[in-house]
Amino acid sequence: MVHLKIGLRQPSRVVRHLSIVVVSAIALSLGSCTSNAPSTNSSASQTQSSPAATADKLQVVTTFLPITQFTKAVAGDRAQVTQLLPINIGPHDYQAKPEDVRKLAQADVLVQNGLGMEEFLKNLIKNAGNAHLLVIDSSQEVQTIATETIEGHEHGHELSEKQEEAKHIHGEVNPHIWLDPKRAIQQVENIRDGLIAADPSGEEIYSANSAAYIQRLRDLDGETTKLLQPFVGKTFVAFHDFAPYFATSYNLKAKFLLDVPEGNPSPNDVKRVMDTVKASNLKTLLTEPQSGQDAFAGLAKDLNVRVSTFDPMETGGTEALQPNYYITTMRQNVKTLVTAFTGKSTQSFLPIQTLQPVAVVPQQVGVRF
Ligand SMILES: [Zn+2]
Repeated sequence: MVHLKIGLRQPSRVVRHLSIVVVSAIALSLGSCTSNAPSTNSSASQTQSSPAATADKLQVVTTFLPITQFTKAVAGDRAQVTQLLPINIGPHDYQAKPEDVRKLAQADVLVQNGLGMEEFLKNLIKNAGNAHLLVIDSSQEVQTIATETIEGHEHGHELSEKQEEAKHIHGEVNPHIWLDPKRAIQQVENIRDGLIAADPSGEEIYSANSAAYIQRLRDLDGETTKLLQPFVGKTFVAFHDFAPYFATSYNLKAKFLLDVPEGNPSPNDVKRVMDTVKASNLKTLLTEPQSGQDAFAGLAKDLNVRVSTFDPMETGGTEALQPNYYITTMRQNVKTLVTAFTGKSTQSFLPIQTLQPVAVVPQQVGVRF
C-alpha cells in the first residue's frame, strides 16, 4: 500500500520508532475505522452531528494551530479533529500533560508538523501505548532549510547558550514550513493521504476537501508573489526564527532576533538586528502577536523604526482553529510586510506608543549593546 510511506522517511529516532506504529495502525484501520465510518456517497452523513455520530467518527488529534487548520480543511465533517496543545501555548515550549496521554490513547490518528517541532510527542506516544494510532508527519518530502544556513548564524559569532539550546530543540532543520504556502500545500497533501490511509472509504471527501483548500493556498501564493515582487532581494527582520521558508519562497531575506520566542536577546542578537536594520534601510521590525513586542519596542525606538506584527500562528484565539484563519492571517502578514518595506503608514501598524510604556522597555536590551 502506497500510504505505508507516511511517517517512515524521517531520519530522526522519533519517527523511526513511529514507523512500527504506522504499519500496525494501517493494518488495524482496515478492520476498525472503516466499518464505523459513514459511507462516502451519503451527503447526509457528512452533516449529522449527533453525539453518536461524533463518537463514530474518525478521531484525529493535531498538535498545534496550523496543523489543526490544515487537518480540519481536509477532514471537514468527516472526522473529529481535536488539537492537543492549548491554543495559547506554542510548540516551542510545550510540556506534555497527563491528559495528553489519554487523548492519544483514544485517538485513531495523530497529525504533526514534524521536523522536530513536536519533541514532546516522543514520550507521549510511547506512554499512550495505542497500537491503532496512525501518525501523519505533514513534513514528509517537504524540502527543508538547514538551521546552520539561516542568516544570523553565518557571521561566525559564537552562539549564545539559548541559541545552542534552540538548535538542539530544532535539530538540524528549521521546522517552520507551514509559513510558506507552497510547502503548506504539500503538508495538506500529506494530511490528505494519511487520512485516506486511516479511513479509505472517506477518500472522495478528503480528496475533494483538500483540492478546494489547496486551490485557496495556490491563490494565496499567487497573490503573495505578485505583492512582494517589487521587494525581491530585500531583507526583513522577524522576532523569532520562523521566516526562512516564507522568505525563500518569495525571494526575500529574513533575519531574526531570537531562535525561539521564549528567549532573551543577547548583546550579539541585538547588534545583529541593529546592523541589519541599518544596512537594509528597513522601516519596520516585525513582532509576533504574543511575543517580542517589549524587546522590539526598545530596539525600534533606538533605531527610529516602526514595529508591526507578522503572525506565525504558533498560538492564537479560538478562531485560529479554523482553516480559513491561515488564509486570512497570511494575507494580513503579506500586507504588513509590504508596509514594512515601503514604510508607508497603514492601519495594520500597531501604534508604537502603545508598545513601549516606560515600564516595559526591557532593560536587558537597553543596557547590553
Ligand atoms: Zn517558531
